[in-house]
Amino acid sequence: MSVQTEKLLQQLEAIVGEAGILTGAALAGRSAGIWSGSALEALALVRPRSTDEVSRVMRACHAAGQVVVPAGGMTGLAGGHWSTATDILLSTERMNRIETMDARARTMVVEAGVILQSVHERAAEDGLMFALDLGARASCTIGGNIATNAGGVRVLRYGMMRDQVLGLEAVLADGTVVSSMFDVLKNNTGYDLRQMFLGSEGTLGIVTRAVLRLHEAPLATETALLAVPTWDQVMELLRYFDAALPGALAAFEVLWRDFYRLNTGPCSSVDPPLDGDTPYYILMDVFIADIDEGRARLESLLTTCLEQGEIVDGSLAASEAERARLWQIRENFEPEQKKFDLIYGYDVSLPLESMADYVESVRSELTARFADAELFAYGHIGDGNLHFSIYPGRARDRDAVDEMVYFPLRALHGSVSAEHGIGLEKKAYLEYTRSAAEIELMRKTKRMMDPGNILNPGKLFDL
Ligand SMILES: Cc1cc2nc3c(=O)[nH]c(=O)nc-3n(C[C@H](O)[C@H](O)[C@H](O)COP(=O)(O)OP(=O)(O)OC[C@H]3O[C@@H](n4cnc5c(N)ncnc54)[C@H](O)[C@@H]3O)c2cc1C
Repeated sequence: MSVQTEKLLQQLEAIVGEAGILTGAALAGRSAGIWSGSALEALALVRPRSTDEVSRVMRACHAAGQVVVPAGGMTGLAGGHWSTATDILLSTERMNRIETMDARARTMVVEAGVILQSVHERAAEDGLMFALDLGARASCTIGGNIATNAGGVRVLRYGMMRDQVLGLEAVLADGTVVSSMFDVLKNNTGYDLRQMFLGSEGTLGIVTRAVLRLHEAPLATETALLAVPTWDQVMELLRYFDAALPGALAAFEVLWRDFYRLNTGPCSSVDPPLDGDTPYYILMDVFIADIDEGRARLESLLTTCLEQGEIVDGSLAASEAERARLWQIRENFEPEQKKFDLIYGYDVSLPLESMADYVESVRSELTARFADAELFAYGHIGDGNLHFSIYPGRARDRDAVDEMVYFPLRALHGSVSAEHGIGLEKKAYLEYTRSAAEIELMRKTKRMMDPGNILNPGKLFDL
């Protein structure tokens, strides 16, 4: 280690204290994230406790030209938080305080390292809800949710993370603190600086605090699983339920047959609630305001769908335990981890009209080229957001599979990333979705806000 690096680490330790910096052997037991399986690599893991400490850490790193990679819960699926042995990994794990909760204003002020589930639990104590919800809720952080502009299962009704943040505070690459901690819904006073950080994947600043917008919690949630014979019917049912239950349809997920069979088959702990012979399975949440009437209304709509052949079978959860079991079919990735030693994950969006044909054409191209490959499709279809879990077969040609998935999206006006971000994994494909002029403007913004290119460099795009 150079004298300069040693001096910087001493400086950082003076800022965050001995417990706030881990190096060498102290890093050994840490993994690079729950999804990665590999050991964490970093020059040091720095864990500040306040905005002021983040600012002083950044000032020191800026002066030394030291690369800093921000990290929250490390559940990101695009490689945005990946670091190398020469990077400082700046974790918000000790900035995990819920500062204030204002039930009347329906706002909560949190530090960036607060876990999403803690926000849900705190809001629920006052009969409120925080609308962002996703499978990694027990590990991901509000700062990470902001930096990735996370989506999840409630976007259909409430929008993405950018719609849940009223204000935020961030530290720039040179240590400047930018506070936009507004708590009002409407604020047309020039450029919306807060939104610059939403989806910026840690390349423009480190989010340290946020003002979150809360909503009234529904009295109850009904969950149904429906077996649907055709894609046309899937699309019609989305409109049908949205129109018949205005403002109440809170999740509309679709599982293709192979995914449903995998997640209710021998590798799964969930028994299939419906047989596995139908091409599509809709998993739907409906918020209801009156328990008896709301459930009766939903039952009657489902009966009509059954009589008209729009669905061939269905299961309406009768308890919270049953609801959780139905959701496990969608959110549990253990079956694929048990069955396959390698899975490539994808997260794209495209118009619903083209989606079923797109899935089948990717599947046939994949299996024509790699006979032992397998594709499982599912996603937040109410938002036009499709996920693939692909077992690439023994050939393991990631570039070829990426190209099969991403290339057709250009003609379909789709996106190579619906909600997970670009990170390192999709950098090569950013130009499939964004124009050269857009990418150049992003580069100019990055150069202006981080002239030394020390904040998460090489993520999203190269300068
Ligand atoms: C099982 C599972 C299900 C998932 N489901 C969904 C889903 O439905 N929808 C969805 O959108 N995502 C989903 N994800 C992906 C992931 O959970 C989200 O991207 C989440 O928002 C990442 O939060 P994190 O705290 O783990 O961030 P990290 O993984 O630590 O970081 C993600 C990115 O944000 C940056 N970052 C982190 N904290 C900060 C900060 N304070 N300031 C600036 N930059 C920061 C990092 O540098 C990195 O670029 C899922 C992941 C898993 C494992």
